[in-house]
Amino acid sequence: MGTTPRSAFRARLTRLTVLATAAAATLTATTTTAATATPSRAAACTGYVGLTFDDGPSGSTTALLDVLRRNGLRATMFNQGQNAAANPSLVRAQVSAGMWIGNHSYTHPHLTGLSQAQIDAEISRTQQAIANAGGGTPKLFRPPYGETNATVKSVAARHGLTQIIWDVDSRDWNGASTDAIVQAAGRLTNGQTILMHDWSANTLAAIPRIAQGLASRGLCAGMISPQTGRAVAPG
Ligand SMILES: [Zn+2]
Repeated sequence: MGTTPRSAFRARLTRLTVLATAAAATLTATTTTAATATPSRAAACTGYVGLTFDDGPSGSTTALLDVLRRNGLRATMFNQGQNAAANPSLVRAQVSAGMWIGNHSYTHPHLTGLSQAQIDAEISRTQQAIANAGGGTPKLFRPPYGETNATVKSVAARHGLTQIIWDVDSRDWNGASTDAIVQAAGRLTNGQTILMHDWSANTLAAIPRIAQGLASRGLCAGMISPQTGRAVAPG
């Protein structure tokens, strides 16, 4: 009748074992969740999108690179030549952070209103400024305002540049809210590219949620192929 001291001890031991096993299971679950939540994990990628940031490098570039790196994102930075010349260390910081560097003209003019010689100068001076800063020789070109014509495109091609416009416009340049920028990124599909800007505070704030949204859809931030103009696996 009743429990002997020995069996009471055994019951308590069993309960302790169950608790310890549950604790270990919780630990394992936590570790697994943390690992799969990293958006840059290649195994989770079912497609790639091109994140692009225009107009840098500038005073906002360091914060932008920090948040991109913290969220495991790589992007294409379409730099203005005059900004690269004024901030060569920021061009190197972009490269160190794993970003790809593109050409966005030297002074950000409306290129379609310029002569062929002026267009050439805008593009070639930018190639030189980025290379001088340590950013390599760009292979991608985005005309300011997305304004282009056959002359702009052929001058860019002569400098070995592929013109890249965009599939999705975040409208951060027009005061879009952080929510609206996150929603715009949510419309990206495999291979597509989104327009954003180096200087936009709302874009900076949107980046963690953009990273989460892409990861939840199995999309990863890729490089833009100079051959096809589409986002592909970094290589
Ligand atoms: Zn621009």
